[in-house]
Amino acid sequence: MTTVFQKIINREIPAEILFEDDICISIKDIEPQAPFHALIIPKKVITRVGEADNEDEPILGHLLITAKKIALEQGLEQGFRIVINNGSDGGETVPHLHVHLLGGRRLTWPPG
Ligand code: 5GP
Repeated sequence: MTTVFQKIINREIPAEILFEDDICISIKDIEPQAPFHALIIPKKVITRVGEADNEDEPILGHLLITAKKIALEQGLEQGFRIVINNGSDGGETVPHLHVHLLGGRRLTWPPG
């Protein structure tokens, strides 16, 4: 199944791209849950963290480092949140692994 993120990576549908390299792409979320809400998506189709292979470890690390770099570029020195939803109970709606990066307001805890 081709997900919306694969279509964005392939430039079949538009997105506001913040960053891209050989391993991942970062886009603004279409339905932001905070003043700043980006997604960092690996180009390799890993369905979800729960299905990542041991060999995907460098990719998973790269997603977090990229999220940190984007957060600092966006001026989120006051703090930010990184979220990965996994499976239906975890709130995952697109079965292509993605890291949410949220900031720009005081985020509450626990999440819903
Ligand atoms: P999940 O619920 O799977 O953790 O996150 C999926 C995210 O993708 C949601 O926050 C949703 O708003 C975002 N999203 C879904 N479709 C699109 C799209 O076509 N473009 C962009 N930029 N974001 C999308």
